Amino acid sequence: MNRLNGNAPSRPRIGVLALQGDFAEHIHMLGLIGITAVEVRKVQQLSEIDGLIIPGGESTTIVKLLTRFDFIDGLRSQVESGMALWGTCAGMIVIARELTDPYPTPLGLIDIGVSRNYFGRQVDSFEQELVIKGIEGAPMQAVFIRAPIVNDVGVGVETLASVQNGVGTQAVAVKNGRILATSFHPELTRDTRLHELFVELATEAANDRIRISPDITEGTPSQA
Ligand code: GLN
Repeated sequence: MNRLNGNAPSRPRIGVLALQGDFAEHIHMLGLIGITAVEVRKVQQLSEIDGLIIPGGESTTIVKLLTRFDFIDGLRSQVESGMALWGTCAGMIVIARELTDPYPTPLGLIDIGVSRNYFGRQVDSFEQELVIKGIEGAPMQAVFIRAPIVNDVGVGVETLASVQNGVGTQAVAVKNGRILATSFHPELTRDTRLHELFVELATEAANDRIRISPDITEGTPSQA
């Protein structure tokens, strides 16, 4: 019998990039919904997970460390082959297509243009209730800390939540397939609903990988 084709839904394996920033808080949130996430510090670990969270922190430092530890090509190829990805705050900056700021050079994993520290001059951090597409129930309490904004949403990228400001309405949560990016920090609240959404995306990735994995139990001579 092929154990990979059983009916039990597979538990996705989730990693949180642990080079810098608030990775521990994401791991804690995932623990609340029954997922034991791994701290990712080596590019080789990406082939063992179905979804990666790039946490908030300092985006220039995160890009520098990703470059120094030779993550860039491996990360890109895992995303191209269907791994789920979620960038929160600095993580959103890291995965964007382009920035209005000179630094860092973003990885271009989702087709959005982003401005760093967008709310910085008015007030460094604030909380706001946000209605997020795909999240049922009451609005989420979104925590913005020196947060970026999405100023350009590419074709095929869906806006899940926006805020109103002097310029108009601007996106703070976007999704393209299994790639999610949020300006705010759901890991600093007790509300696990966005983490649950990400687990669903990673579950899809896990199921795809199962479908494309060769069945080593059939047609293979026994080594026993
Ligand atoms: N302002 C930070 C940056 O540009 C992001 C802040 C955060 O992740 N809370 O990297």
